[in-house]
Amino acid sequence: MRIAFIGLGNMGLPMAANLLKAGHDVVGFDLVPAAVAAHAANGGVGAASLVEAVGGAEMVITMLPAGRHVEAAYAEIFAHAKAARLFIDSSTIDVGTAKKVAAASPVPFLDAPVSGGTRGAEAGTLTFMVGGTEAAFAAGEPVLKAMGRNIVHAGASGAGQSAKICNNMVLGISMLGVSEAFVLADKLGLDRQKLFDIASTSSGSCWALTSNCPVPGPVPASASNRDYAGGFAAALMLKDLLLSQQSAGDVGAPTPMGARAAELYQKVVDAGEGGFDFSVAFRWMAAQERG
Ligand code: NAD
Repeated sequence: MRIAFIGLGNMGLPMAANLLKAGHDVVGFDLVPAAVAAHAANGGVGAASLVEAVGGAEMVITMLPAGRHVEAAYAEIFAHAKAARLFIDSSTIDVGTAKKVAAASPVPFLDAPVSGGTRGAEAGTLTFMVGGTEAAFAAGEPVLKAMGRNIVHAGASGAGQSAKICNNMVLGISMLGVSEAFVLADKLGLDRQKLFDIASTSSGSCWALTSNCPVPGPVPASASNRDYAGGFAAALMLKDLLLSQQSAGDVGAPTPMGARAAELYQKVVDAGEGGFDFSVAFRWMAAQERG
């Protein structure tokens, strides 16, 4: 299939590479010329503009930073992608914008945000959370399978973004909860490994503890053992928490823990820690005075 891929950043470039490996013709465009050159080096076709990229495409996939980029890009795509039968936006954006763009689309549209990070994008093991009609999902699923392992139809338009921000709101809240438990344990003189061994087999167990433990030691693969380098950036966690709060405001959902988590991650980012894995919340919290 001839696919236009718009947004060849940290996620988009390796996702487009997996489409190439699956045998698709992928015309890529990014505002950054070096990203287009990297796509061409991977065996894809580099376009000089978005309009050129989408011209003959049967499908357009976008992987852009935020809702405003998605809205602006689709205004152009809708006007110029005359051969396209399906549009898929994999960016993480607010539910309202996702629904609005889909409603304006002349052909079926899927919101399909991902989980799995850059490692999942490279390995082709992403989880796609997809919103749209059954027919659109059926049309998009084979292509998404070239980039991901779990392709889940979450529901109607906007449901993919809803699933993504609800999941990441749980994750942000639970990481802060695990972090403050370790801060308290340190102050109480409780050994970190003992707390891990007990909580990970008790009712306090969760992914933030067992897979991405915010203190170094108990989970060798977690970013805390690498001074919090790599992983899922605290700045991206803040972005997703703010999206959850925007959507909660839009629909009047009370999310006091999500709101507090957004406030705390804002402080983590303001302290200059936004580029570190989001488990850096522990290091930031441990350095605070009790208010
Ligand atoms: P990124 O900033 O590395 O890449 C985005 C790319 O879009 C950039 O290269 C930028 O130049 C390009 N771009 C912006 N406007 C454009 C336009 N009009 N036309 C063409 N290109 C344009 O971001 P990323 O890390 O690849 O993330 C992309 C999306 O995926 C975000 O919404 C992010 O929240 C989400 N996401 C990221 C991760 C992660 O671990 N990085 C994980 C899950 C989801």
